[in-house]
Amino acid sequence: MRAMVFNGVGRPLREEALPSRELGRGQVRLQVQACAVCRTDLHILDGELPDPKLPLVLGHQTVGLVSEIGKGGSRFTIGERVGVPWLGWTDGTCRFCRSGRENLCDRAVFTGYQVDGGFAEETVADERYCLRIPESYSDLQAAPLLCAGLIGYRSLMMTGEAERLGLYGFGASAHIIAQVARWQQRRVFAFTRAGDEEGQRFARSLGAEWAGSSTERPPEELDAAIIFAPVGELVPTALASVAKGGVVVCAGIHMSEIPSFSYDLLWGERALRSVANLTRRDGEEFMELAPKVPVRTEIREFRLGEANEALQHMRAGELRGAAVLKIG
Ligand SMILES: [Zn+2]
Ligand SMILES: [Zn+2]
Repeated sequence: MRAMVFNGVGRPLREEALPSRELGRGQVRLQVQACAVCRTDLHILDGELPDPKLPLVLGHQTVGLVSEIGKGGSRFTIGERVGVPWLGWTDGTCRFCRSGRENLCDRAVFTGYQVDGGFAEETVADERYCLRIPESYSDLQAAPLLCAGLIGYRSLMMTGEAERLGLYGFGASAHIIAQVARWQQRRVFAFTRAGDEEGQRFARSLGAEWAGSSTERPPEELDAAIIFAPVGELVPTALASVAKGGVVVCAGIHMSEIPSFSYDLLWGERALRSVANLTRRDGEEFMELAPKVPVRTEIREFRLGEANEALQHMRAGELRGAAVLKIG
C-alpha cells in the first residue's frame, strides 16, 4: 500500500510502498478514504514533539472503511465507516484512566505519532478507540471533525458558560468551534494574524460578531478565550482581554515560549490552562453534536501524494478551514 512517510526532522514526506501491518487482537484494518491535516503534524515534522516513531505515517483524522477485523474484534462490521482520532490506546489502569481522564494516561499511544496514521491507503487501529462518523457527512467533510473539531470541542467545554468567547487563530479548529459556540448562543470574537482580512471575513461569515487582528483589543471584555495558534505571545494578550474570573485555554499541543507578564494580568481570578488530547467520551459527544448544529466544515482537497503541499499551505496560513487528503 502507498503511504506518505516521515523519515526524520527537516525532511519532506516521501511516497513509499509499505507492507500491510499484521492485525493484533481487537484491531481493525481500514481502507482510508480521507485524512485531514493538523497543526500537530507540522510540530512532529519540525521536531517540536519528542521521539516520534520513525519511519512514521502521520495523520490522526482518518476516515476509513473497515476491511478486516482482528481476533476478538466485535464493534464494527466489514464495510462500516469509522474515524481514527489522535488517542490510539490507553492502559486503562493508571490513576488518570481510572478517574475518567484517559486523555492524560501515562502510557497513552497517539495515532500518527507513536503508531502509524492515515496518510496512507490503509491503516490499522484499535477498534475501541475508533469513532462512528455521522451519516450526514461525506468522508472529506467528516475528517476535520476528528481532531480540529474534537480538540476544539474539549477546549470549548473548558470555557464553561462563557458568553463572550475569543478565538485566537482562525484555522481548522476555530472555524468549527465558532459554529458550535454560536449554536450555543455565545458571542464570538475572532482574532487572526494582522492584515488577514480574508480570514476575518471568513470568521464573520461563520457568525463572529467581531473579527480583527490578534494585536487588537476586542470591542468589549471577553469571558473566555481559546488560543489555537501555537504562539506563546498570545497568552498575555488573551489574558489582557478577558474579564475578571475569565479563563484562557491553550488548545495546542505545542506553543512557542510564553513571555513573562505582570501578575496583574492573572489577578482577579483569571485562569490559564491547557487542553491535552481527548477522551473517547469527548469523541462520542462531539460526533453526536456536530450534525445537530449542524457544523459545516470548509475544506481544501489534496491528493495523498500532495501531503507536503497541504502541510506547506497550513504552515503559511493560506488555508480557509481545513486541508484534507482525499485517498479512497
Ligand atoms: Zn490534531
Ligand atoms: Zn492510563
